[in-house]
Amino acid sequence: MNGDQFNQEFFSYLKSSPTPFHAVANVEDYFLGKGFIRLDEASNWNLLPGQSYFVSRENGAIIAFSLGTKTPPEHGFRILAAHTDSPCLQIKPLADIAENSFLKLGVEVYGGCLLNSWFDRDLSLAGRVCCETDGSDLDILLVDFKRAMLTIPSVAIHLDREANKNKTINQQYHLPPVIAQGVEGQIPNLNAILLDQLHVLYPDKAIRSILSFDLFCYDSQPPVQLGQKKELISAGRLDNLLSCFVGMIALAEAENSYNNLLIYTNHEENGSVSATGASGAFVDSILERIFPKPATRRIALHNSFLVSMDNAHATHPNFNDKSDPAHRVFLNKGPVIKNNANQRYATNSISAAIYKQICKKAGVTPQEFVMRSDMPCGSTVGPMTAARLGIKTIDIGAPTLAMHSIRELTGSEDPYLLYRTINQFFKTDFFQIS
Ligand SMILES: [Zn+2]
Repeated sequence: MNGDQFNQEFFSYLKSSPTPFHAVANVEDYFLGKGFIRLDEASNWNLLPGQSYFVSRENGAIIAFSLGTKTPPEHGFRILAAHTDSPCLQIKPLADIAENSFLKLGVEVYGGCLLNSWFDRDLSLAGRVCCETDGSDLDILLVDFKRAMLTIPSVAIHLDREANKNKTINQQYHLPPVIAQGVEGQIPNLNAILLDQLHVLYPDKAIRSILSFDLFCYDSQPPVQLGQKKELISAGRLDNLLSCFVGMIALAEAENSYNNLLIYTNHEENGSVSATGASGAFVDSILERIFPKPATRRIALHNSFLVSMDNAHATHPNFNDKSDPAHRVFLNKGPVIKNNANQRYATNSISAAIYKQICKKAGVTPQEFVMRSDMPCGSTVGPMTAARLGIKTIDIGAPTLAMHSIRELTGSEDPYLLYRTINQFFKTDFFQIS
């Protein structure tokens, strides 16, 4: 597969993954197609060398692993971690707001959204709906409207002359998107709209009622390549589905001679503290199932290496002064090693050296990022996973502009450059470093 083919497959993964639930379901489908075996946390497992497995939890997190044929557990795991969620607007449980002939939906802000970017966009709706059907008291169904359904109209400049100087957004009053206009005073409701869509998506299910849902707004505009030579990628959810896609392909294509593990968790954008988040016990629980003996598990972890993959800030064309002058990061220049003295990123000199050697073998030159010293630094799943497992860890990611906007920007070369290093990572055997 070359870079262009890789991007096309990446775009179809992005388009079909509007929510963490869809992102995980698509990873499951991909792995099933590659011969991975689905495991259930509620059953006993009989794991065999040379086989690949995956287990998902509550639709939002997935751990996949290949057990090596040549290497015993003492040789550890090559581990890749990323998150499945992205900042967005989440629909409230009792969402209907009928006002001025419109039906609007009450929303909460999920994660650190750049809210300005959500106005005047053609939004769609997707998520998970829990239903009562003729066959089941609790049927969990994924739903995606797949078309422009909602919008949050801006106030015209004539009615807000200060809009270009002082724009503040009240999350309670200014964000509810419009989903319908009533005809002759008849304003529909979300329950009816949702039931209609479920009947279209699941014609064979006799749905009695909707019990609850996790629904999110997303940008209905598909990913595009832009720039004179199509050198840029503009898309929603690049943070962090770019990493999820790269890791998924790299794990499936890795040989089964080594132990490789992939951890995709939910809720990174609001702190990772959940049953499916990186701060939860999901990974500990799966590692206990793989290595039931504590001493074997500890040795395996000691000899493991974790690559935490999440997007990195590129130097902005119009805001040069937001970057450290000695650590400029550019699109289309490859993966970024993320550094922070206060462990907001888990990178240290040993893990950076190992990753640089991997990059060298892959023929890719990485870039180095460190925040300006007078600005606070973001974080990701790397430090908390490193702390949980006590293993050597590096934080890396694709260079990105407009992070947490409804549409983010990366270089057309960057997904494949990142992939080449992760592909190399999964087949490299030099982690026995004390
Ligand atoms: Zn992220």
